[in-house]
Amino acid sequence: MNLNELAKSINDIAINHGFWEDDRGFGEVIALIHSEASEALEEYRHGHEFDEVYYGVNSKPEGIPIELADIIIRVLDFCGMAKIDIHTAVHEKIEYNRTRPYKHGGMKA
Ligand SMILES: [Mg+2]
Repeated sequence: MNLNELAKSINDIAINHGFWEDDRGFGEVIALIHSEASEALEEYRHGHEFDEVYYGVNSKPEGIPIELADIIIRVLDFCGMAKIDIHTAVHEKIEYNRTRPYKHGGMKA
């Protein structure tokens, strides 16, 4: 399954669960992606290991890997909704990054 197929699948699940019934602005989409990054940080602040997955109420998977997965899921959900060719975009950016200079000419991170 390529990224576009995964995006379509994720978006179908979100639509079927009612998450796109109300219009979402792009700002809300970005805020929701960011909220998952914050959840990953909270897992770290609570002392969980990077690769630790644990199970909460109703066997809900929790942990840094799950929150990172949520970031990807949120991004792909939007890509599926907006019909973005994320598969091509990711590969195009990877190839561009390959051509960039060491630390992109002096960046620290
Ligand atoms: Mg989450």
